Amino acid sequence: MNVGVIGTGAIGTDHVRRLTARVAGARVTAVFDVDTARAATVAAIAGATAHREAHDVIDDPAVEAVLVASPGDTHADLVLACVAAGKPVLCEKPLASTSGAALKVVEAEATYGRRLVQVGFMRRYDVGYLGVKAALGAGRIGDPLLVHCVHRNVGVPAGFTGDMSLTDSLVHEVDACRWLLDQEIVAATVVEVPHSPLASPELRDPRLVLLETERGIVVDAEVFVNARYGYDVRCEVVGTTGTVALEAPTTGAVALDGGRVQALPMDWQARFGQAYVDELQAWVDAVRRGVTEGPSAWDGYAATAVAEAAVASRGARTSVDLAERPALYSGESSS
Ligand code: NAP
Repeated sequence: MNVGVIGTGAIGTDHVRRLTARVAGARVTAVFDVDTARAATVAAIAGATAHREAHDVIDDPAVEAVLVASPGDTHADLVLACVAAGKPVLCEKPLASTSGAALKVVEAEATYGRRLVQVGFMRRYDVGYLGVKAALGAGRIGDPLLVHCVHRNVGVPAGFTGDMSLTDSLVHEVDACRWLLDQEIVAATVVEVPHSPLASPELRDPRLVLLETERGIVVDAEVFVNARYGYDVRCEVVGTTGTVALEAPTTGAVALDGGRVQALPMDWQARFGQAYVDELQAWVDAVRRGVTEGPSAWDGYAATAVAEAAVASRGARTSVDLAERPALYSGESSS
């Protein structure tokens, strides 16, 4: 499968390397980035052509599927162009920077009549999350009652500003909880907590968000993107007869001076490296079979709508008002 990649920054470059060296059945044949030097360097890794415009990648007759890894505010228009061209597209999260723009993608795909869009919620491919999902599905902890989530980064790049810890980070917790619990999130409340003086003030970091699902389950999600000590993602579902949680991933343990220190991954590449490979392999395998699976445009829309409610919350419980779900997405993990 010939893949065209739009956006060859941090994750775009990683994806090109994965598609080139670790994923079977695919090769990167075209790339585009507004930073033409970066695009040329990444094109050389894959033996691909660096195009002059993003749309040249989508319109390239040799490109069979597109991977979008440019900044979030460019995603919706690029994905709409892929749908118009009838090309499968894996779009990094978020699907769009507003729920209105995400809904346009949902509507365009529903009109097209079959799925072409997968959104890059790679936690659904992580072995830890898959274990939690399997335990819930097997009824191991009875009925889920509440979920504790933690999303901590060492730090964030300079361009990570404003409400991005909600629109770009929290969306992972939103998607994971919708998928694990198989239900929509209907309200969000951001609870004020003291902010770290080590973070830029306008990020109001950390954030504590309460999410309520349609069947009354409550999720508390801490997002702390300047936690400094490591990249630490946790998820524990509390049920009527037990709990199930992600294992803390460790890159080794050091015993020293009467103590034992477990090393943590320091970034998302280290923590979710295998999940990204598995996500890409599943995407390639499905597209080569003529289908698109995995997190859908509806999932991308729902996640952005919840993040938007969290941004609007400012301490108040804020409803998430989702549009009617088109039949195309019925029966998917809340899909
Ligand atoms: P990044 O390092 O800033 O890379 C983005 C690249 O896209 C940069 O080279 C940027 O060039 C380029 N670009 C800007 N506008 C463009 C356009 N209109 N068309 C094509 N390229 C354009 O960002 P990143 O960390 O790779 O993130 C990219 C996307 O992936 C974001 O949506 C992010 O949320 C998502 N992401 C997802 C995960 C995950 O866990 N699934 C992890 C990381 C990132 P300039 O630098 O010159 O602007």
